[in-house]
Amino acid sequence: MTDHAVVIAGGGPTGLMLAGELALAGVDVAIVERRDSQDLPGSRAGGLQSRTIEVLDQRGIADRFLSDGQAAQVQSFGGTPLDISDFPTRHNHGLGLWQNHIERILAGWVGELDVPIHRGREVTGFAQGDTGVDVKLTYGQSLRTQYLVGCDGGRSLIRKAAGIEFPGWDPSTSSLIAEVEMAEEPELGIRRDALGTHGIGKVEYEIRDGEIVFGDTGPVRVMVTEDHVGSSEPTLQDLSERLVAVYGTDYGLHTATWISRFTDMTRQAASYRKGRVLLAGDAAHVHYPVGGHGLNIGVQDAVNLGWKLAQVVNGTSPESLLDTYHAERHPVAARVLRTTMAQTALMRPDDRIEALRDTVSELLSMDEPRRRFAAMMSGLDIHYDLGERHPLLGRRMPDLDLVTADGPVRVFTLLHDARPVLLNLGEPGGLDITPWADRVQLVEAEIRRRVGDSGVRRRERSRRLVDPARRTCRLGWRRHGRRASRGADDLVRSADCGVAARPARSPAGARAKEWPPRHERHSEGSQRRE
Ligand SMILES: Cc1cc2nc3c(=O)[nH]c(=O)nc-3n(C[C@H](O)[C@H](O)[C@H](O)COP(=O)(O)OP(=O)(O)OC[C@H]3O[C@@H](n4cnc5c(N)ncnc54)[C@H](O)[C@@H]3O)c2cc1C
Repeated sequence: MTDHAVVIAGGGPTGLMLAGELALAGVDVAIVERRDSQDLPGSRAGGLQSRTIEVLDQRGIADRFLSDGQAAQVQSFGGTPLDISDFPTRHNHGLGLWQNHIERILAGWVGELDVPIHRGREVTGFAQGDTGVDVKLTYGQSLRTQYLVGCDGGRSLIRKAAGIEFPGWDPSTSSLIAEVEMAEEPELGIRRDALGTHGIGKVEYEIRDGEIVFGDTGPVRVMVTEDHVGSSEPTLQDLSERLVAVYGTDYGLHTATWISRFTDMTRQAASYRKGRVLLAGDAAHVHYPVGGHGLNIGVQDAVNLGWKLAQVVNGTSPESLLDTYHAERHPVAARVLRTTMAQTALMRPDDRIEALRDTVSELLSMDEPRRRFAAMMSGLDIHYDLGERHPLLGRRMPDLDLVTADGPVRVFTLLHDARPVLLNLGEPGGLDITPWADRVQLVEAEIRRRVGDSGVRRRERSRRLVDPARRTCRLGWRRHGRRASRGADDLVRSADCGVAARPARSPAGARAKEWPPRHERHSEGSQRRE
């Protein structure tokens, strides 16, 4: 088989995203994937968080997901819905879209970038040396590569073979999850009782007028909490018995296309890198699916690692750049592990926990806690610790509308090629980048308006968004009628999701304002529709 600069073990969401990032940077990359096709048994993850939609938008592919999914206020903490419709992002919502569709779309993009995927083959082992890694595959095949990245899921062979520890917590609860046919119409929705939290829905659903409307026909998706942590391969009989225990009937359950089990096992790789071997996605962290983080932080791991690995492979940066991948992404997953454990505890069927859940819900109904937790759960507050030198250091880049000599452009459009961009919002011609001109695109620009402003009078279809708990909010595009000038305080405001380390001063020295300004905040009933 042909050798490649980078070999990725596993073509799930993380591996696909990483392959796309590396291919954009001109790196010779290939995926080795155990599955014969991208088809996924079962639907698994239910969608994308706001920050992941932003990341996909930065590569010009967000519309592919948005057009197939359903925009919704999906974030919650411990069952309390968290609305992000007032957050400074174009994507102030999540997206309901099953993982099989997310993978299909990502695989289509990677195919356009001509990344070879060796399907129906497994990585069975590897040996790394000073100059590269010999990767062993099934059928006696092998590959030589400079770097091997394990995106091979929670049971990662790459992690184990590299001898990377995976410390954490054993499971305390487990649930059966399945896609099945039922002869009778089941009780649809979430049920919380003395036996745990359970849910039944249809795989096909629509969000209409603020409500999740399940399809009349099609497979039923079932999730039931087990009475003890299960470990054997789950069967239709196990599912039937548990349904009877919880609902008093199995609704004429028959024909499962997928039966699986998930637990709240919570573990994280002690190191995301060992020499020429790196880990990303579930291979690096596993946790209970509450909050819907796993796929999202895997895709974001891939984007953080992609450009760094490309720089090292292309000889632009030293290998030590790869250590910043662990330094930046390990704390992100560690926090997700902590919040999922907290939420698992809040979900326990117990009157005292119920009282605690109500108390947390009351706290989260206040604006500041809501903003802080919503920013955390949507991924919009992710902030890498790069020191205190500047308030924008390590924050996400907001998708500002800019004006350049070539006309208007969005910041995210400038990032479609995944190449470094230096944005000069200061004095035109004030920056000399001659030494890096071959690697960095310098863009002289002014900020046209803040994200969320329309700036011009236009009508936008008002959209009703919904979270799974059926709390609805009416969204429209707000108009401020104010044209922001060249000014970095707008950049600070848009990068800041109103959370933790809000900068006291903008780079320009002006006081950073609250976002959104108090007079522009709105309650559900008072939002303007246009
Ligand atoms: C019930 C459930 C609900 C979930 N809901 C959400 C949600 O709403 N939101 C969310 O963000 N996440 C959710 N998740 C988590 C999400 O599914 C995972 O985090 C995500 O799939 C991780 O992607 P990955 O690419 O890192 O790993 P995986 O998706 O596990 O992909 C790993 C790939 O590697 C391949 N592979 C494995 N070993 C080898 C090998 N040795 N050689 C070659 N190939 C190999 C596998 O075939 C697979 O394709 C949920 C998970 C479950 C179980």
